[in-house]
Amino acid sequence: MTTQKRDYYEVLGVSRNANDEELKKAFRKLALQYHPDRNKDEGAEDKFKEVNEAYQILSDKDKRAQYDRFGHSGINNSGMGGGFGDVSGFGDIFDSFFGGSGFGGATRSRNSARRGSDLQYTMPITFEDAVFGTEKEFDINRTESCSTCRGAKSEPGSSVTSCSSCNGTGQVRRAQQSLFGQVVQVGDCSACRGEGKLITTPCSQCRGQGKQRNKRKLAVTIPPGIEEDTQIRLTGEGEHGSNGGPPGDLYVAFKIKDHDYFIRDGINILYKLPINIAQATLGTTLSVPTLDGLDELQIPAGTQSLQMFRLKGKGVAQLRGTRRGDQLVTVEVQTPRKLSDEQKKLFKKLLDSLPEAENENKDDKNFFRRFKQR
Ligand SMILES: [Zn+2]
Ligand SMILES: [Zn+2]
Repeated sequence: MTTQKRDYYEVLGVSRNANDEELKKAFRKLALQYHPDRNKDEGAEDKFKEVNEAYQILSDKDKRAQYDRFGHSGINNSGMGGGFGDVSGFGDIFDSFFGGSGFGGATRSRNSARRGSDLQYTMPITFEDAVFGTEKEFDINRTESCSTCRGAKSEPGSSVTSCSSCNGTGQVRRAQQSLFGQVVQVGDCSACRGEGKLITTPCSQCRGQGKQRNKRKLAVTIPPGIEEDTQIRLTGEGEHGSNGGPPGDLYVAFKIKDHDYFIRDGINILYKLPINIAQATLGTTLSVPTLDGLDELQIPAGTQSLQMFRLKGKGVAQLRGTRRGDQLVTVEVQTPRKLSDEQKKLFKKLLDSLPEAENENKDDKNFFRRFKQR
């Protein structure tokens, strides 16, 4: 669908005899009204493009004459570089027309205070450290303010003069002629590289950088129950800020080593206990390792393989909580692989006297699902 192009004079709301000053005024008003940075209304962007296009043509003496004689067909759009439809491409012209940092926020001067970067440190810890918590020391390398000049970049006692090119502001304004007349652009002062001051003698310690790399020994308190996806923030222990800005933070992450026989599942501890077929059949009492040392576990007669027992309160402390998880002991009944002649005889006797095994899990679809997933 092609829509009829509106008359350029109509778009800008000016008469056909409008002079340059009136055109400029009308364009400025409409461009401000429809600029996509300020106007989020539907259709504002199209309006903005339309206004731009009209002004581009009418502000050019030759193109305006062409348009006056032949209308839209007198304007060879393909010969115009095709830049009108592109709002972002037009941004530079638009910004300079209104004197630089009109919409994008104030230009950030190099000498403004800046917060230091955050750092991350990954600490390897043992299973027990994560479960019980501990205090750990560690070393990090970070960028800090120079200890000699305290970040000022100048040798202490030497003179620092205010930059005369920019009057100490670090920024200069440059006037340029452009399509729209005189345009003022703001940029970093080249004499002082945006610092606003000139250092006569750079600090010898940091070679005028104002910062240095330091190795620091820090300590972190690891609370009981920490998990691998938990990070501890050490406020203000990141890199130092510049020009008086605050330091960043340091985030400590953890890599928890596996335990030889415990597996952690949140606040619970999973443990596999192998028992032989006689223990399972007749029942027994066994010593089981827990986080607190050995504990006794009653295995009742007739215990099945994969049956689970719960040692209450023998799990991991809940992080920042009062609860403690459990230890879940899964019994694995082991069938003997090697038997003596005597044992073989006993099992044969049993074979004759025991009833056939029955499927007790007829309705337990989960039983089969376990195998299906492999
Ligand atoms: Zn220094
Ligand atoms: Zn300067």
